[in-house]
Amino acid sequence: MQRWVGHADLDAFYASVEQRDCPEYRDRPVVVGAQPGHRGVVAAANYRARTFGIHSAMPIAEAYRRCPNAVYLRPDMDKYARVSREIFQILETITPVVEPVSVDEAYLDLTGLEKLIGPPEVIGSEIKRRILEATGLTVSVGIGPNRLIAKLGSEHRKPDGLMVVFPDQVLAFLAPMPVANLRGLGRQTQKIFAGLGIRTVAQLRALPPGYLEEHLGSRAAVSFHNQALGIASAEVVYGRGRKSISKETTFEADVREHDILQDTLHKLAAEVAARARREQLSGAVVTLKIRFTGFETHTRQRKLPAPTHDERVILREAWALFNQGNLPRKPVRLIGVGISDWQQTETEPMQADLFDQPQKREIDDRLLETIDKVAGRFGKGMLQLGCKKEARGRDSS
Ligand SMILES: [Mg+2]
Repeated sequence: MQRWVGHADLDAFYASVEQRDCPEYRDRPVVVGAQPGHRGVVAAANYRARTFGIHSAMPIAEAYRRCPNAVYLRPDMDKYARVSREIFQILETITPVVEPVSVDEAYLDLTGLEKLIGPPEVIGSEIKRRILEATGLTVSVGIGPNRLIAKLGSEHRKPDGLMVVFPDQVLAFLAPMPVANLRGLGRQTQKIFAGLGIRTVAQLRALPPGYLEEHLGSRAAVSFHNQALGIASAEVVYGRGRKSISKETTFEADVREHDILQDTLHKLAAEVAARARREQLSGAVVTLKIRFTGFETHTRQRKLPAPTHDERVILREAWALFNQGNLPRKPVRLIGVGISDWQQTETEPMQADLFDQPQKREIDDRLLETIDKVAGRFGKGMLQLGCKKEARGRDSS
């Protein structure tokens, strides 16, 4: 079967969200980042602002010099995270195999979707249509036989682009492309290529074997040789881009009461678990983060015998970490919990605790599903699994 990889990348994401929410910015250059007059850089610039040469990571003072009339906005990360979640949920209506790269960028395994949705162009338009309808934002989509071609495809037609590269078009697609578009091209390599007079992939491809190796070393030479021929991995992995899922809370006033700490951990564990289930992830490492009065911060980790996305297990482990001693006995300013070290839940089902029966597992999973549905309809915190409070291992008095 032909492998198809998609790469979806929102256009000027932060700036587009702000423009969407504030129509008077529509025809203006919009720069999200530090405020002019302060230190800091551009986080995102819309396409109008880019015509002034403004781009992300540019010092804000330089952006201001180029375009003092632009709209300068501070980033609203909570809002972007909300929109990002919406976008990933839409991507998951296309394929369950979504690999996040960042808040606004993902690889998708589109293999075998022809019968369900249609040929690659139709799948691509469908991704764009669903995201635009639900969020009002435009996305650029590249589709090709592997990750490299998909990514170069989405870059090629930005903004609001769709590019499908069939396997027999790969070489022609790459040939005129600047070598600067290839992956893993650092400043040093760029200099070497410039020195050798290599500007395009076609020129790179025409080099005699061994020539690149002489100048770049064998590892880089193999990488660029393969890229020039459009050879790359087609593997897309769930959740790879995300290393951990965690939630934390800073208290208004520092807290000593274990009841409050445990209740807070419970709430955070439920949020982490629900998020993990939504992304079909199970983590084998639970992390507790705790910050005491005076900003002293500690993290403690525990590796589980089997990965989990069950809030009861996460809470139990986090609470055990809290109680295992070797933490200062001071009021707590912030507490947080996270899971990491992924295993897919679909192909490698979460293993039950040693004493759990298989039937109980099934019931547990249905229960967790119900919680997610209720949370989806009525909001988080409506329904939580009861977790027995453990005897207090530490006393704060
Ligand atoms: Mg983007």
